[in-house]
Amino acid sequence: MADTERNFCVRYVRQPTGSVGSSNFRLCSEPLAECKDGEVLIRVAYLSLDPYQRRQMMPDINYAQPLKVGDVMVGRGVGRVIQTRHDDFNVGDWVKGHLGWQRYVSLPGMEVEKIEVDDFPPSIFLGALGSPGITAWVGLREVAEVSTGETVVISAATGAVGSVAATLARVSGCRVVGIAGGKRKCDYAVSRLGYDACVDYTRPDFREALAAATPSGVDVDFENVGGHIFDCVLERLNDFARVALCGLISQYNLTEPGGLYNIDKVLNRNATISGFRVTNYIDRYANALAELKGLVRGGRIPHVETIIKGLDKAPEAFVNLFQGAHLGKLIVQVDESIVQNKS
Ligand code: NDP
Repeated sequence: MADTERNFCVRYVRQPTGSVGSSNFRLCSEPLAECKDGEVLIRVAYLSLDPYQRRQMMPDINYAQPLKVGDVMVGRGVGRVIQTRHDDFNVGDWVKGHLGWQRYVSLPGMEVEKIEVDDFPPSIFLGALGSPGITAWVGLREVAEVSTGETVVISAATGAVGSVAATLARVSGCRVVGIAGGKRKCDYAVSRLGYDACVDYTRPDFREALAAATPSGVDVDFENVGGHIFDCVLERLNDFARVALCGLISQYNLTEPGGLYNIDKVLNRNATISGFRVTNYIDRYANALAELKGLVRGGRIPHVETIIKGLDKAPEAFVNLFQGAHLGKLIVQVDESIVQNKS
């Protein structure tokens, strides 16, 4: 690395009202931070774009640490150690952590984790073998406790969480019904992700189509979206159904959240809605990863990701995340050279 090399980063410069836009971010060129004692300097290869990042722009909600105007945009990433002042790391190690939207970052060694790139592509640690995959596992295995023969509905079916949840429900012997936006995504969900059926929520007859795809009702709802879609799923709940309330992505860009009309079905059906945050289940991560790695190795979890090239494209890609423009895990490739030269 040349001494004169500078860091490029994306800073969060304006709080959004309603939908997030590219003007909420600014690309900056800054001096490189020094790698201090106990730290490693990392060159970032891939960044993960996730719905939670929009939630961190809401200063009033009790969710993670709200972003402050001026911060480097938060985000998980994977990269390589290029300088080390920590005994546990060598130059060349691949690591993951909260690297932020930037080309280089210096972090304490205890805040990053080495990843096994001999067996897996590095970017998968942001998807099926990262937080989205573990979230799918926790929601189905720990929160909903799915059983063989049950009907499981998964909204945002082709996203990072939904695509892994589909495999997990399927290997548990469930009937798996997805909900996604548009025919192309629904066809993909059935042909590639192993859903038994997938219902397009943009259809005017969505409610009827969902009923037709769930003739025996719904035992488990893996809820990623909220709003009208969630309301329609509530109508289909069976007695003692469980809702694993993972996310409400349809609400994150709204100034006024939408209400639910069918909440009475939860009462009438003795159903349970359990909100969960994956970070509350850290003690289950090892079990989750053991099963997920086996399923990835066996080809049961397809490696589906949409890669956007260039840190400067991150803001636009993040805005598009809420339009559903991607399939699988949405990732920004920051540095092509280290990606091509993996070992
Ligand atoms: P992705 O970015 O991979 O996928 C999101 C998908 O949501 C989009 O592709 C789009 O699919 C759909 N979507 C976006 N906006 C809307 C809308 N207004 N109405 C309906 N669908 C919409 O997301 P993830 O898979 O990473 O996350 C899924 C959910 O899980 C999110 O709600 C997220 O907040 C939550 N989550 C929760 C965690 C927890 O600990 N509880 C941890 C990680 C994620 P389509 O084109 O089909 O509409």
